[in-house]
Amino acid sequence: MVSDPRFGNGTLGDPARTESVPDLASAALACLGHLAIVLDHRGRILLFNQECERVTGYTAAEVQGSQLWDLIPEGPQAGSLRTLFVNLSPGLLPYRWESLLRNRRGDPRLISWTLTGVPAAGGQAVHVVAAGIDISERRWAEADLLRTNQVLRTLIDASPLAVSVLDVSGTVQIWSPAAERLFGWSRREVVGRLSPCVPEENREELLASLRRTLAGESLSGTEAVWHHKDGTAIDVEQWTAVLRGPQDEPESILFLVADIRSRKRAAEALRAGMQAVEAASHAKDHFLAVLSHELRTPLTPVLAAVSALEEDSSRFPGLRDTLTMIRRNVELEARLIDDLLDLTRISRGKLEIHRQPVDAQHILVHAVNICCAQEVAAGRLRLEMGLIPGDYRVLADGPRMTQVFWNLLNNAVKFTPSGGTIGVRSRVESEARGRFIAVEVSDTGIGIEPEMLPRIFDAFEQVDRRITRRFGGLGLGLALSKAILELHGGTLTAESGGRGHGSTFTVRLPVGDLVDLDDTGSGLTMDDWSAGAEPPERADRPLRILLVEDHADTAEAMAELLRGLDHQVRVAGSVSAGLAAAEAAMEEGGLDLLVSDLGLPDGNGLDLMRELSRRYGLKGIALSGYGMEEDIQKSLEAGFERHLTKPVSLQILRSAIQQAAG
Ligand code: ADP
Repeated sequence: MVSDPRFGNGTLGDPARTESVPDLASAALACLGHLAIVLDHRGRILLFNQECERVTGYTAAEVQGSQLWDLIPEGPQAGSLRTLFVNLSPGLLPYRWESLLRNRRGDPRLISWTLTGVPAAGGQAVHVVAAGIDISERRWAEADLLRTNQVLRTLIDASPLAVSVLDVSGTVQIWSPAAERLFGWSRREVVGRLSPCVPEENREELLASLRRTLAGESLSGTEAVWHHKDGTAIDVEQWTAVLRGPQDEPESILFLVADIRSRKRAAEALRAGMQAVEAASHAKDHFLAVLSHELRTPLTPVLAAVSALEEDSSRFPGLRDTLTMIRRNVELEARLIDDLLDLTRISRGKLEIHRQPVDAQHILVHAVNICCAQEVAAGRLRLEMGLIPGDYRVLADGPRMTQVFWNLLNNAVKFTPSGGTIGVRSRVESEARGRFIAVEVSDTGIGIEPEMLPRIFDAFEQVDRRITRRFGGLGLGLALSKAILELHGGTLTAESGGRGHGSTFTVRLPVGDLVDLDDTGSGLTMDDWSAGAEPPERADRPLRILLVEDHADTAEAMAELLRGLDHQVRVAGSVSAGLAAAEAAMEEGGLDLLVSDLGLPDGNGLDLMRELSRRYGLKGIALSGYGMEEDIQKSLEAGFERHLTKPVSLQILRSAIQQAAG
């Protein structure tokens, strides 16, 4: 009996009137792998095999007596089937037809049917056998394939990249519209031919690369040159994929090709731009080096002369302070020039530091002496010192640390109005990262607005130019100091209560071995710092020195200075004169040291040093207005023991001479 409601109203089929199907036939249909339905001449279901039950989810009992079109979704297909049975005659069969079949869950299955007529037992009536194959999967796979093909076709047609497929022998199979546009060859001209974009002479190369690609080597991301129909070479970047046949055998190669001419032009322009920038930067460095040389040259004789006079101050007792003031100002000028060069070094990552164990507080006291003494002595500023007792060794570049403290103290003096106080304090801080000596330079001066605090460490940055211009300066000191401290593994920080509330700068440096020399004291006092400022006097060994310098004023002042240190000095103004003077000196008893300028009218001091070192094993000190690393390096390579940058302070010259002469 029919139990599904759709088949249960009795009007679709009348089981009482169905004719029987022989058992043998029904057994045969039962084991058939396809769908098989036996219908009577009105289309009523007599037999519904197991495959039908599996595909539709209905049992034979449920559909028995229903009409075939009841299993088909309402629509034209159901209508034409109904018509077929109304007019059924043997001439209309076999009837082939595809239809959707409703299954119990409502999923459509696509069935290909063949309806064949079978004479009913005993005579006229016709049974119809509907044999069906479920072609849903196949048809959907075909539909998928079709859709994929359409998508691929659209992709190939719309792709801005040229698409080409070459078979293993290099014959073009696919040639996209973008390829037509890029290379000028139409599809008709190219497909079926060896790729015309590779010139005859490069054919072998192409085939070899195809073979390598087929063997698994990827050309993806490689650059190549393909040719336009008019012969123009086109730079391209290509990506490849091997396309395989049904047995997984490599059949052809898909090429995606991008025109990279504009990219290459842009890269070329960028490279040229970079070169221009580098050249400009080099020119700037060169200009700064030459400028500083030219600025230093006139300072050299002034500093030398003043230093000589200072040494011999007993001759001018009333002038000592004036001479000191002149020397300090010349040194200040030289310092500004050095700052400019240092900035160039930092921007090129070439600032070098030479570390030695030094006493940080000793350096600090020395800098305080240089920067604050005058103002304090004149009663313009008060100084409060609060240094911890002891010898706090840091591994640092002494002159660079002097430069840092000098910058901070000079700023404190510069930005603090008369009557103000400058504080210099130190303490030891222990952190997880290690032990640091912290040096604080504070003032009660003009202060810094909070929003400007982070910017004061940028090169050329000055808080308020109208104010700071009054005080001079290039805005480089803090940038350099910070960079120097960072090279030492230290830090520089600034605090201020704002405009008019003073500033505090803190230097932190990692401390090495901590040796307390005096832990009974309560900190250094004014007396300590002024007493400790100058290095102890030391007798110099008189030497026979050849001074080669073409700048007459400098030569004269330097000679005077050296003679003031009890040395015998011969002066020459050129390489040839230097060689002659050395020869004469050797004949007259010998020569201990060469002190030579580098730029000389008939050659350079490097050649002179080489020659004198070769001839007499002479040692020397280079004295130059050029002070970049490469200049220093060249001097050392030529055989000079030291390279001093003009204008050189008396102390440095003195100790260099003693060291070099050895
Ligand atoms: P310079 O002093 O040559 O201008 P610096 O790099 O040493 O250059 O300082 C940068 C700026 O930071 C100064 O121009 C000033 O505006 C500010 N500054 C530095 N030190 C102090 C200070 N102690 N008090 C107030 N402002 C300061």
